[in-house]
Amino acid sequence: MMAEAQSTTSPWEYSDAPESIQVDIAKKYQLFIGGKFVSPKSRSWFATTNPSTEKKLADIASAGKADVNAAVLAARRALPAWSKLTGCERGKYLYAIARRIQERAREFAILETMDGGKPIKESRDVDIPLAAQHFFYHAGWADKLEYAFSGRTVKPVGVCGQIIPWNFPLLMAAWKLAPALACGNTCVLKPAETTSLTALRLAEVFEEVGLPPGVVNVVTGAGETGAAIVNHPNIQKVAFTGSTEVGKLIMNQTAGSGKSLTLELGGKSANIIFADAAIDQAIEGIVSGIYFNQGHVCCAGSRLFVEEPVLDTVVKKLKHRLKSLRVGDPLDKNTDIGAINSKAQLQTIQKYIDLGEDEGATYHSCQTERLPSKGYWCHPCFFTDVQPSHTIAREEIFGPVLSVMSFRTPEEALMRANNTRYGLAAGVWTEKGAKIFDVAKKLDAGVIWCNTYNKFDASSPFGGVKESGFGREGGIQGLRPYVKLGGTS
Ligand code: ADP
Repeated sequence: MMAEAQSTTSPWEYSDAPESIQVDIAKKYQLFIGGKFVSPKSRSWFATTNPSTEKKLADIASAGKADVNAAVLAARRALPAWSKLTGCERGKYLYAIARRIQERAREFAILETMDGGKPIKESRDVDIPLAAQHFFYHAGWADKLEYAFSGRTVKPVGVCGQIIPWNFPLLMAAWKLAPALACGNTCVLKPAETTSLTALRLAEVFEEVGLPPGVVNVVTGAGETGAAIVNHPNIQKVAFTGSTEVGKLIMNQTAGSGKSLTLELGGKSANIIFADAAIDQAIEGIVSGIYFNQGHVCCAGSRLFVEEPVLDTVVKKLKHRLKSLRVGDPLDKNTDIGAINSKAQLQTIQKYIDLGEDEGATYHSCQTERLPSKGYWCHPCFFTDVQPSHTIAREEIFGPVLSVMSFRTPEEALMRANNTRYGLAAGVWTEKGAKIFDVAKKLDAGVIWCNTYNKFDASSPFGGVKESGFGREGGIQGLRPYVKLGGTS
C-alpha cells in the first residue's frame, strides 16, 4: 500500500509500517436507541467511505424525524432513574466506559483513521487516549458536583442533544457525553455524516458496560437529522461543535425556546513568534499547530505572525521542516499527513489555495512525494507575502494551509492577531515570561498556549470567544452547561 505513496529513491526512506490489525466493519450500521441497535423508521441509509481509498466502508442509517423522536423519548424515559442514581454509581459507569475504550483502543484508532483519514499515530496517541481520559476525568467529578459548585444545589439540565463534527469524531463524542452523564443528564448524540463509525462502536461499549437503556442514544445522519434534534421540543440543552455558519443557524433556531446552548465553532487562530523565541521549538509548534490532523482542527494556528528580524530564518526552517513531513497512507505509522476527510473538503481547500495565489500571496510546498492515485490528498503548504485583507488570512480553511505574516512591535502583533471575527485559540512564543503574560492577557481568544500549541487535557477548559462560540468543554467550567444550579444546599 505504502509503496505507492512513498518515493523509493532515497536510501534514507522509512520502511513501510502499515497497521497490521484488521478491524471488523459490518455492512450496515443501525441507530442506537433505547439501548438497542434498531433499523431506521426512515428506511434510509447512506454510505461512509474511506477518504484515503475512496472505498465504501459501510452503510449507515440516516435518522429521520420519527427516529429522532424515538431517541428523544428513550432519553426522556431514562432520565428520572439516571439522574436519581448517586454520583458514585454514575461514576462507576463512566470509569467502565473509559477502561473499555482503553481496552479497545487499537480498534478504535484504526477505525477512526479508516473512516476519517487522520494518521494512525494521531488517532492512536491523541484522539483515543484523550477520549478515555475525558471519561476518567468526569467519572471523578460525578460524585463531587457539590464541591464543583460549592454551596449550591446541583441538578441535571435534562435531555441533551449533542451534535459533533468529523475532525475528532470519538474525542468530540467523549467531550460532549462525559460531562453530561456525570451531571445526571441523558443524551441524544449525532456524529458527523462522514465519520459515524467510532460513535457507533462507542454505543457497543455502552452495551458492554450495561449503561441503562436510553441514557445515551446515537442517531446518525446529516444536517437534517441534526436540525430535528435541535428543534425537538423535549430537548433541554443543545451542544454543538461545527461550522460558524451552522452554529448561527442553531442559535437562531433555539432563541426563545428556553433551551440552553453551547457552541464551539470555527477559528482563525494566530501563532505569534517573537525574535527571542527558541526558533526550532517554535517551528515544531507551528507545524503541529497547522498540519496536525491535516489542519482539520478548529483551533489550528492558521495565521503565523513572525517578528521581522527572524522572519527569513523562520520561513527557511519551515520550508526545510515541510520537506520531512510524510504525506500518504493514514494507516502507516510513519505518516504525518493523512487524507483530507472528504472530496468536498478537498475542493474547499483547493479553492482557498488558488485564491491565495490569485490574490498575490506566494505559495510554498514540498511536493516531493508521489501521492496514491485514489483518495483525497493535499500537500501541506504555507503562503508568504500575505496581506491581512487576503481571503486566506481572514477565512477559516480547515486544511493544511498556513498564512505567514510579519510584525515589528508587540502592539502590532496583538492588533493583527485580534483582527478577526474569530477567537478560539492563540499561541505566543518568547523566552520572556513577562511578555507571555502581557500578550496573552490582551489576546481575544478562549485558549492561549505559550511556547507550545495544540495541547489538550480533560481538566483544561476549551472554547472560544467572538464568532468562535461560547461555553467551555473540559475542566470545572465544562460541567457548568450541564447543571441547573439552585439556592444554597
Ligand atoms: P463542517 O463544515 O465542519 O462539516 P458542519 O457545521 O456542517 O461542519 O457540521 C457539523 C455537524 O453539524 C455535523 O454533525 C452535521 O451533520 C451537523 N449539521 C449540519 N447542518 C446542520 C443543521 N442545520 N442543524 C443541525 N446540525 C447540522
